[in-house]
Formats: sequence, structure tokens, C-alpha cells
Amino acid sequence: MSKLRVLPLGGLGEIGKNMTVVEQDDRIVVVDVGLRFPTPEMVGIDLVLPDFTYLRERAADIEAIVVTHGHEDHLGALPWVLRSLAPTRLPPVYGGPLTMAMARSKLDEHKLREVELVDVEPGEDVELGPFSLELIHMTHSIPDSCAVALGCELGTVLLTGDYKFDQTPVDGPPADVSRLAQLGAEGVLLLCGDSTNADREGFSPSESVVGRHLEEVFSRAPGRIIVTCFASNIHRVQQVVDAAAALERKVALVGRSMRKNVGIGSNLGHIELPPGLMIPPREIDDFRDDEVVIISTGSQGEPLSALRRMAYRDHPQVALHEGDTVVFSATPIPGNERAVNETVDRLYQVGCEVITTRDAPIHASGHGYAEELKLMLNLVKPRYLMPCHGDYRRQQLHGRLGRAVGIDAAAIFQGENGMPLELDARGARYGAVERAGMIFVDGVDIGDIADAALRDRRMLSADGIFIVVATISEQSGGSVADPEVIFRGVPFLDEAGGLVDEIKDAVEEALEHAVGDGIRELDVLESTLHDHLAALVYERLRRRPMVLPVVVEV
Ligand SMILES: [Zn+2]
Ligand SMILES: [Zn+2]
Repeated sequence: MSKLRVLPLGGLGEIGKNMTVVEQDDRIVVVDVGLRFPTPEMVGIDLVLPDFTYLRERAADIEAIVVTHGHEDHLGALPWVLRSLAPTRLPPVYGGPLTMAMARSKLDEHKLREVELVDVEPGEDVELGPFSLELIHMTHSIPDSCAVALGCELGTVLLTGDYKFDQTPVDGPPADVSRLAQLGAEGVLLLCGDSTNADREGFSPSESVVGRHLEEVFSRAPGRIIVTCFASNIHRVQQVVDAAAALERKVALVGRSMRKNVGIGSNLGHIELPPGLMIPPREIDDFRDDEVVIISTGSQGEPLSALRRMAYRDHPQVALHEGDTVVFSATPIPGNERAVNETVDRLYQVGCEVITTRDAPIHASGHGYAEELKLMLNLVKPRYLMPCHGDYRRQQLHGRLGRAVGIDAAAIFQGENGMPLELDARGARYGAVERAGMIFVDGVDIGDIADAALRDRRMLSADGIFIVVATISEQSGGSVADPEVIFRGVPFLDEAGGLVDEIKDAVEEALEHAVGDGIRELDVLESTLHDHLAALVYERLRRRPMVLPVVVEV
């Protein structure tokens, strides 16, 4: 009996790192390979990837990777996934032309040049082993966003990717509702749907509404205008460019990813830049303040982004000053609020005027609201529903929308990362849980699940460190010099008067005991010292700084 397995490895119970494995006859198609940005507790971690151990183990069985669109939470993990699969099998990657161009530029940076990237146009039929693949054109905050229909023996699995039903998109046609309805009429077995805005009532506003509000905001700005939005939001960049052109201002792009994405987007015809409008950042100062619009990265308060550097007066090309207006044409992704607020506050300190989405409707979400989710369900009429791309609350709300349009509660599988849904002629049920979780990327290194390193960093950042150096005689094992105590970042140390001396005494005492017990191995000594000192420090400070004893033999 034919069996189908749909295993989410990321994107459920969270916003970010989307990755779903669809499996039939032991052949695999992976849909999306996303990443997530770290939360502030993940000290020193740059990126978070889904734990894709499962894919590594099944590398030989992977027919293809399909990417719905070019956002980091769908595409960002591609280099790491491919690099780790490569020794066994380097699967081809399929997606829309812009998505593949963005993938190419990522893979180039990682020196992965042998990967086969295949452009797929919506409506094209592609065979992938036991699956047939079709992309369906959708609207979202990046061009070339697609839903993925995987035809299998049992029926069609439709993964919506990120979408909204924008009736007046800035570029290209609206979502292909007629093809969705047709798929629905043919019979969709399982819908894996975007839940991001399941908690917002009604319909999302159209992207094209944003343009005139931007123009209005621009027309009131006395000096330079700095607009920040997602670098991948090419439609938004287009609208900023149009508003600037209407007001006869020049436009400069600042920030590496902004320049890169606009370059790719304009090569593929997704953005039109009127001749003579764009100026390189180094020429900004050649124009009067009221003749310039700067489009910058940094809408999420990212530490190294152009806007953040400008706010901290650390940008080589743009020095902000009084009279500048900074326009946030984006809302913070949950988790980024603090960084964004910090940036905004710095901008006020510099003397800028700051306009956010609270002041004017200068942003439209790329994800459909509740009524759009219902529309998708009614068009596709899936037999089973798996709410994806959302935290638990939004997944659950998406499930409720499903029930509201008449899907049987027993056919709604809220699911979790690592929990495969197994479907056959008899029905659908969860299978045995597979490994899923997070992998941390620290610089360019991909960690194992670096829990220990993270715990250490958290400890260091909260409670500081004691380093204790003890010197013992190689012959007798006894202490031969005053122990040295070095500490950094330990809170409340002043209030624990004499603690450093107590630590020294405790070291001497512990070493004496050790000699008495005949302990001479350095690592055993160090671990004994650690236990003694950690207990002492905790007792006195009620804190757990890292305690690092170093024993030197002379
Ligand atoms: Zn997404
Ligand atoms: Zn997206």
C-alpha cells in the first residue's frame, strides 16, 4: 500500500526556519530550507538552522529541494544543508527564477558552485521521482513567491509557502486563484498552510496602498529621507523609488544586501529604476538634503546593518544629522522589537525625525489575514490540514479557521517539528517522532547542537567568571605559591567583602586535602577545586559565575 509521509523539520511552533520533508516510496522532496535569527539569549550565535540530521541520514534518497521563495526563513539554510549532504548526494534545487538567482548568489558566497539550480515557471510540470511538481504563482512581500503542489499516488500535497491574496500587487498578476480552485476540484489531500497572520481579522491591505502613503510622508520631509525596509522586499523598494521620482529626489541604496537584491531584482525585471535617478552612496553629499532619498538595510535593528551604523555615527558614507527623516517601512519580526527600539532611540538622539508604521500606513504585511486563510481553504478544499509557519497560537487559530469552513476537527493536524504525518488509503496519523531541533551557526562554523557553548556564554554574560590559578610542586603536589584569583564581570563582588581571600584559602585547603588523599592528576585536582570553589562562591554570592581553576605544576 502506498504511503506518504510529511515531516516538518522546522517552522512549526515558531516563526522561522521552515523546512518540510515529503516522502513517498522512500524518495524525498524537501520543501524550503530556511533559517531563523537568534534570540538575545543565544549569546554570540549568528544564525539558527533546523536540525537536519534526518536529511543527512537520508541524503541518498533526496530527489530534490524545492524553494517557495527567496526569504531567509525559506532559503537561508541552503548552503549549510547542501554542504552537509554533498559527500553523499548533491540534490538539485528547484524554484522560481528570482528565488534561484538569490540561491545562486548565496551559494557563490559559500563557494558551492556545482549545485544544479533549476528555474521553474508556474504551471510547468516537473517530474521528481515518484512526485510531480508544480509551482503556483502567489503574492507575498517578495516577487516570484509560489505555492508548491506535489502530486503523489495518494493525491496532491499543497504547501502554500508564504502568501497573501493581493488583488492589486505592485508587480505581476495576483495569486493564481483559478489554478488553486482547479487543484481543489481535482482533490487536494493535504494542505500545509501559512499561519503567520491567522490572528488578524479580515483581509490584509494591498501592497500598492503603501506607495501613496510613502509619497505623502516624503512630501512632508524637509531634509534627507532615509527609508529602511527588508532588502528582499523589492516591491517596496520600487514604491520608494517611485515616490522619490515623483518628488524629484535622487535615490541611493545603502547596505550590501540592499544593493545585491535590487541588482538581482532589476536584472530579472522585477524592479524598474528610471534612468538617472539612482546615485552611488558616495555622491549623496553632492546633492542638497531635500534632493535625496536613501534606501537602507536595518529595519530589524540588525547590529551590523547600515541603518544601525548610521544611528551610531559609524557609517562610512552617511552621517545622519538634524533634519533627516528616517522612515521604517517594515514592522519588527517578533523577537527584534528591542533592537529596533534601540535604533529608533539613537536616531532621536542624533536629531532625526522617525516615522514608523504607527504614524502612517507605510507597510503592508506579506501574509494573508484570517479571511484570506479561509479563502485558501475554500479554494483548495483539502481533505487534511496542517497549519504551518506559525507559533502554537497561530497554528491553533489556523486550525479554528479550518473548522469554521467545515473541515472535520479530526482532519486537522496541528503538528510539531519532527512529528511526521503518515497518510495512506485508510487515513492519516502521526508516525514515530524524528529528530528535529536547532543547529547554531557561530560565524561560519556550524555547531553541533552547541548547548554547552551557549550555556557557558549565558553564564558568562549573566554572572561573570572567576579564574583561579594554583601552582603546585611537581614533587610533593603541595601548593608552592599564593593562588591567583582573577575575576571579570562578577556582580555583587564588592558586597561580598573578603571573598577573594576566602577563595585563596579554600584553594590552599583543597590542595592540602588532595595531597593527603594522594591525588596528583591535574584534571582531577582542577575538578575538585572547581566543585569546592563553585560551592563557596554560590554560598556567598547566590550567583553562579563560571569558575575556572587552572593548576600549574612547577
Ligand atoms: Zn516565511
Ligand atoms: Zn516570506
